[in-house]
Amino acid sequence: MQKLAVLTSGGDSPGMNAAVRAAVRRAAYHGVQMYGVYHGYEGLMNGDIQEMSLGSVGDIIQRGGTILYSARSQEFKTEAGQQKAVEQLRTFGIEGLIVIGGDGSFRGAQKLTEKGFPTVGVPGTIDNDIPCTDFTIGFDTALNTIVDAIDKIRDTATSHERTYIIEVMGRDAGDLALWAGLAAGAESIIIPEEPQDMNDILERLHAGQRRGKKHSIIIVAEGCGSASSYAEAITKATGWETRVTVLGHIQRGGSPTAMDRMLASRMGAAAVDLLLEGKKDRMVGIKNNVIVDVDFKEALAQKHQLDLSIYQLARTLSI
Ligand code: ADP
Repeated sequence: MQKLAVLTSGGDSPGMNAAVRAAVRRAAYHGVQMYGVYHGYEGLMNGDIQEMSLGSVGDIIQRGGTILYSARSQEFKTEAGQQKAVEQLRTFGIEGLIVIGGDGSFRGAQKLTEKGFPTVGVPGTIDNDIPCTDFTIGFDTALNTIVDAIDKIRDTATSHERTYIIEVMGRDAGDLALWAGLAAGAESIIIPEEPQDMNDILERLHAGQRRGKKHSIIIVAEGCGSASSYAEAITKATGWETRVTVLGHIQRGGSPTAMDRMLASRMGAAAVDLLLEGKKDRMVGIKNNVIVDVDFKEALAQKHQLDLSIYQLARTLSI
């Protein structure tokens, strides 16, 4: 292969730029040209493609977001859209494509491989919800953003002796809520994987109060319902003052942590190596700190498994 391309797709995550940089530089190291596809699959269908140079990815390793922009495309989900994308790639003489994104983006990449175009996926999402990898690019940065926010909220929660309910991202995966909950010492963590009833939450709040705790932090993953509904229920049951913070999109931004830059650099380079070894239809992952690759079909057929031992540990440490 002499020409490869890279795109970012779906929800952006900090570290995507570091992965793009690694892909471009690793390709150059092998004497291969790398093209950047702008605006995800939308740009791919429209031929929004430019050759990238070593310099074009300079000064981006520390930047959040993605210099290639990201987009969601309905048209690409159609057969005609996918055909258009393959034709564009062939017109540019591109022989392999690296897709940095989440599981939706990987399903799109799989369609291209089915049409005879080699693709490799790199997991980039703050949710850490991709199977067959311990971590996704952006998770560590988002986690640190949340922990920093909770530390600040804890200061005012302590001063005013209030209960705070903090809503974090995670529709189907509770990783961000769980890891942030343990790292920030939350009293309760509410995640989609572990149904919890209000009685349990109230019991834990009361137990804390009996021990002399004057404030509490409860973290809710957005997939479990709104933080305000939990706040209302707690106030109704206890008469205590509650406050709500919805962290929202600040969780998606910011300069990637060193861990995310490391992960992105290793994964971005591995994706290039895979394509050059003639491998396709695969996703790069990390298992026990070793970079691995897995068949898309195998990865997408599985469900991401949250580590419930962390949940149990958080419960025992927050009594
Ligand atoms: P993420 O990659 O973060 O999961 P999405 O689920 O929004 O984000 O997927 C990103 C894009 O990938 C979609 O806008 C669409 O163009 C493409 N895509 C998602 N699912 C499929 C699919 N089943 N077939 C083809 N393309 C898909």
